[in-house]
Parts: sequence; C-alpha cells; structure tokens
Amino acid sequence: MTKSGLSVFSLLFLTPAWGQEPRTEIMKWQDGKSACVSLTYDDSTINQFRIDVPLLNERSMPGTFFIITGDIQGSRNQPAFAGRPIMTIIRESERVPTTKENALERTSLLNYLQTVQLVPELSDFSAQRLGRFLQRGDYAELGKVVDAALAKLRKSGASYTVGPRKSAVGDKRYPLTWDEIRRYAAQGHEFGNHSVTHPFMPALDEANIVYEIEKSNEDIREQLGVKHTFSVEAPYGIDDPRVRTIVAARFPLTRNWVTDDFMDGFLRDDRRDPTTSTREYVQWQRGPLSRTTLDAMKGWVDTSIGHGIWLVLVFHGVEGIGWEPLTTENMRAYYDYIKAHEGQLWIATFQDGAKYARERVNSKVSTSRSGDAIAVTVTHSLDAHVYDLPLTARTTIPADWRLARFRQGEEVRWLPIYREGGNSFVMYRMMPNGKAVTIEKGAN
Ligand SMILES: [Zn+2]
Repeated sequence: MTKSGLSVFSLLFLTPAWGQEPRTEIMKWQDGKSACVSLTYDDSTINQFRIDVPLLNERSMPGTFFIITGDIQGSRNQPAFAGRPIMTIIRESERVPTTKENALERTSLLNYLQTVQLVPELSDFSAQRLGRFLQRGDYAELGKVVDAALAKLRKSGASYTVGPRKSAVGDKRYPLTWDEIRRYAAQGHEFGNHSVTHPFMPALDEANIVYEIEKSNEDIREQLGVKHTFSVEAPYGIDDPRVRTIVAARFPLTRNWVTDDFMDGFLRDDRRDPTTSTREYVQWQRGPLSRTTLDAMKGWVDTSIGHGIWLVLVFHGVEGIGWEPLTTENMRAYYDYIKAHEGQLWIATFQDGAKYARERVNSKVSTSRSGDAIAVTVTHSLDAHVYDLPLTARTTIPADWRLARFRQGEEVRWLPIYREGGNSFVMYRMMPNGKAVTIEKGAN
C-alpha cells in the first residue's frame, strides 16, 4: 500500500535501517493481549457444575475450581483429627488449663468434633469466632471459651474417637463424583485444593493443617493428576502468617497470598486502587457478592484491560446455592461481557496466568539473523516439566518481507506481518526451552 511522500522519508530516515539486528520481546500476556482474567470458584457447590460449567463451555472459557475433597464421593481421605488420642486430650484438660502451648491442639480437636462428628455439646462452638483471640494472641480469653467447651465434653460422659463423618438432617452436600470432575478437567478446567473439610485454619495446629491440605492433595493427584495440585486456597480467604508458612511451602500457587516479588497483590478485601501500582505485574482479586451490580463487575474488566492487570475473579454461590450466590442471569451476562472483550483479554486458568508471568520474567531471549532467516531462542530457569506453557514473542523483521514462516521443531506455520511505528514484526506463540525458533522470509 502506497501512502504519501512521507513514507519514503520515513523509510529512509525514521525506520531502523535494516541491517540492524532483529529484536524479540516476550509479550506481557499470551497472544499479546492487554490483560488477563482468571475465573475462580470456591467450595465445589453443585450449581457451579450444573450452571457455570455449561455456560463456560459454551463460550470456550476455562475456570478454576477450588474443591473440598471430603465432600466428593470416593475420596480415600476422609475428615480426621491428626494428633494424640482424643480422650487423652480431653482428660488432660481436667488438670491442665488452656495455654498458648496447648491451645491449637485443643481448638483443632474441638473443631473436628463440632464440624465432623456434630457433637451436640459443641453446637455453639465456632473455630472462626476464636480468630480474633488468636490474632491478638489473647490466650486468656481464648482459654475461657476452650476450657468451657472441654468441660462440657468431660461432663457428657461420652467417649469420642476419630470416626466416619456424621450427617446432619438436611445436609446440603450432594453427590459430586470424581468421574464428573475428571470430565470437567478434560474440558480444560483447572481444579485446585480447598482442603478436606473447609476448616478455619488459623485455629488448627500444624498437624491438622497439613492433614487437610496434603490428604486432599493425595486424592486430587490420584484422581486428576499432578497438574491439578498446583493451586490452593485456604478456606475463608484467611491471611494468617503462620498458616501461610505451612501452606505456601506446599503449593506453587496460593490464592490467599501473592508470593511473587515481581507481582503486586490486591486481594479481595483490599480497597486500594490497583492502577497505582508500579510493579510489572498486578494481580487484582475481586469477589462479587449477591448485592454486587453487574456494572461494577464489568468495570473490573474495563480497568484491568486499561492497565494490563491480571483480574482474578472469586465466585462462590450460584442461583441460591452456596455463599453469596449470584443469579444465573448475571453470570451469563458477565460471561458474555468477558467473552466480548477476548480480543484484549486473555481468559486463562489461575495456574496458567501465574505460569505465564513467571516464565516470562524468568526468561532469557536471544535473536540473531543470518540472511533471510532469524533465529530466536527463549529459555527460562524454572522447572520445565511444570512450567510448560507457550509464551508469545514478537520479533522485528526486515521491512521488505511480505511473508514470514515460523518453524519450531515439527511445527511450521505462516505468520501475519504487523506494521507499527515504522517497524515490521511478527508475533507468535512458541515453546520456551524447546528447539530454536526460525522465522524465514517467504518467497513471493
Ligand atoms: Zn471456601
């Protein structure tokens, strides 16, 4: 296409004279998209699978589901209390009051007996309500609650042991099966760890936190494969530093904490403006509640696209089932809005969003030209068995190329040529740490 005399001028003086070495950059997000969105779902409630998964599949959009494995039929690892025999702890409480040293063993035990064994004496006990004492380190107040609960257990005369979970009348758990989950995984959805029983972990000791996340991981690994053991969300969106140490050491990716130095994190309860961050990557978590308007939800997408943000959406209930449910109508409208912006928005699972950013910031790129061929290699320093996502690269090419052919190993394809600011370039997905990429001038 001939433009004006200016193009001759720019060709001579403004464009980098070819002969200059070609350059390659790895794009911030896959396919050169402006931003990334990950759709995440907590608690494995039924309508997420009956309603959301079909809506996502119709639009070819992947989701990430944090599942409670103790609720899934056929899980080998059942809810349990990890520690000394239960009656030993209860009897000991008669002579030893609750202190900082024994508090978490006792709160772990009470939580187990209340949430799994449904012990009637503990019907008004709540591990979550102890959170404020634990946060303040107020073991005197915590001790009063715990000692009173243990006194009730001693007084009941019952003998408590670890055993099968009791079902309450009207129990809302439903028969989600691993076969069903495997089907969703094969459709491209990610599954993540949300523990065996969904406990409030700041009130658990290390042995019970480890049981909850490692035993659920065993079932997930066995049923779905190691790929689905990448991401974890400790229940209730907690940010307790003691729990963080235990959980973050066992998973490459946590949704409770943003652990990458190069990434700023704005979690669900963070009211700061994510566009003020100066870090290269920003993860912005937003969790729509029942009262959140569709316009507000759309605004998160717009802001993310405008600022290159990784928007991580956190959904819970759907159509009356689960915490803070959204309506099917709003979910459908929101998915349509996200899909309509796909030209600027990479819709990725939670693990893929993290993997892409980590691979990119840990990559080294080299580009060299030999005649009508440009060779590009991209290597990253991460474990290539885990970090196996392609990256999108952009390489400048001589202005007189009309066709460009991409080759990496067996893969060969023609690339569209883009022109911008006097440069010609091609953009392509490639595998880092693989065979060298060659971009060749096509005969025309
Ligand atoms: Zn949850």
